[in-house]
Amino acid sequence: MDKLERLYRQVIMEHYKNPRNKGLKNKDGYHKVHIKNPSCGDDITVETKVEDGIVKEVNHEGSGCSICCSSASVMSETLKNKPVEKALQIKDEYLKMLMDKDRDETVELEDAIAYVGVKKFPARIKCASIAWKAFERAIKESE
Ligand code: ZN
Repeated sequence: MDKLERLYRQVIMEHYKNPRNKGLKNKDGYHKVHIKNPSCGDDITVETKVEDGIVKEVNHEGSGCSICCSSASVMSETLKNKPVEKALQIKDEYLKMLMDKDRDETVELEDAIAYVGVKKFPARIKCASIAWKAFERAIKESE
């Protein structure tokens, strides 16, 4: 493992052990989406709240593997307080990175860059993407 890979692994494990924005508020104005990944037992619910075009809240709850649970935490921290358009752009670029497609490197992925190695493990791509897909659906439903 090289230095960068080790650093990325630390980011992932740190979010797995200390997840940010965990726990749903279940209040008015929040949109909730639940996604399951039967191949690995990941089960995640993401809740968002948009106000004046800004993603004011991103919360998550659920269980699953370390890749899935940590990526929900990283996603929430990366996309919270971003304008909706910007958050969706980051989400698109993140998913392109996972699928090893050409992407716009000028879009800053922040801690989400730590998942760049997942593309080498096709079975884990879904684990790393479901929280982000749930976010996208929750935003679309709130529009
Ligand atoms: Zn998983």
